[in-house]
Amino acid sequence: MNEKELKVIFEEKFGEGGDIRTYFAPGRVNLIGEHTDYNGGHVFPCALTIGTYAVARKREDRVIKLYSANIERVGVIESSLDDLTNKDEYSWANYPLGVVWALIEKGSEIKSGFEMAVWGNIPNGSGLSSSASLEVLTGTVLNDFFGLDKTMTELALVGQYSENKFNGCNCGIMDQFAVAMGQKDHAIFLDCADLSYKYASVKLEGAKIVITNSKVKHSLVDSAYNDRRNESAQALADLQTVCGISTLGELTDEEFEKYGSAIKDEVCYRRAKHAVAENQRTIKAVEALNNNDIETFGKLMNASHVSLRDDYEVSCEEVDFLVETEWSVPGVIGARITGGGFGGCTVAIVENDAVENFKEVVGKAYKEKYDLDAEFYVVDIGDGARRLA
Ligand code: ADP
Ligand code: MG
Repeated sequence: MNEKELKVIFEEKFGEGGDIRTYFAPGRVNLIGEHTDYNGGHVFPCALTIGTYAVARKREDRVIKLYSANIERVGVIESSLDDLTNKDEYSWANYPLGVVWALIEKGSEIKSGFEMAVWGNIPNGSGLSSSASLEVLTGTVLNDFFGLDKTMTELALVGQYSENKFNGCNCGIMDQFAVAMGQKDHAIFLDCADLSYKYASVKLEGAKIVITNSKVKHSLVDSAYNDRRNESAQALADLQTVCGISTLGELTDEEFEKYGSAIKDEVCYRRAKHAVAENQRTIKAVEALNNNDIETFGKLMNASHVSLRDDYEVSCEEVDFLVETEWSVPGVIGARITGGGFGGCTVAIVENDAVENFKEVVGKAYKEKYDLDAEFYVVDIGDGARRLA
């Protein structure tokens, strides 16, 4: 499948003719800085060359028709500009419909309905942000068709708002920002406190970014995610009784040592410890990368995993097994869980000539232990969401 074939599918479903346009939004992988976005810290994601394609056309009436070539069994979902509510029967289409709703809610005028067929080549629900890809993709389509004049940052914020308010996942801004603002061969060093950012060149000379999909996704992902947010917020509230901060991202490790005892609950303490340390690791990791010190970058990735596993408790047995196996493979510079957690993917930096052995050793060990076939993606860093044709 590719975007040309998607256009054929679009025409089969919705008919030929008119102003048919094609768009792409990438998935993303976060190199370091996990669960720091909603804690006012830094993240360091990059957009991928894999992602989600859309073929779309405006309609004359107020009807919205959506089709995903990834979820054929659901068929065409039909809604209307006059009925933008989240419904179970809308299935995956709640994501694009949420973006339409969010744009209108934020004051944009969507003058008519539209038809859109999508197809993605990123795994869904695996921590590579297929949901943000779909949201920013929809925003990009509507921005272009209806001349909304939104910047890419605004489209990222609209995507986040729709996921928070329409789809009930209280995600931070990282995913949508990376998908909207990605730049080929660069990762984005984003300060989530004020959305200031810098691109950092990721020229991993002699090494590749390898993503491993564990193929497991433990249930309660969204509720556990929302729990982590609440626990972090509780820790912040306790800290605010002793120091004048507005986010956990403002604290250094030393300041956390000094004030941390103000956090009453032991679980909340560990959540905050992760948020503070992970933010500091992310700052150091970007410095290391800028100095071409990839070894230090890798060590910080490893430390990030330990902290996510032990303090933030968002990993799981299968992913821990993958990461620990990856650490033992020669030529692995660093490896960690990536994404929201509770399953999904790992991200590793692996020396070029070690990649084949990495896949073999990790794949075999995982199969033996869990009888699951891990999937590997050796990825390239690509540009953000855009119109293709
Ligand atoms: P992640 O963002 O890590 O991939 P989420 O659970 O947040 O995982 O989002 C996955 C959901 O996004 C899917 O279950 C589906 O509803 C929707 N989605 C993403 N990409 C597509 C697609 N190409 N077609 C249909 N739905 C999609
Ligand atoms: Mg998601």
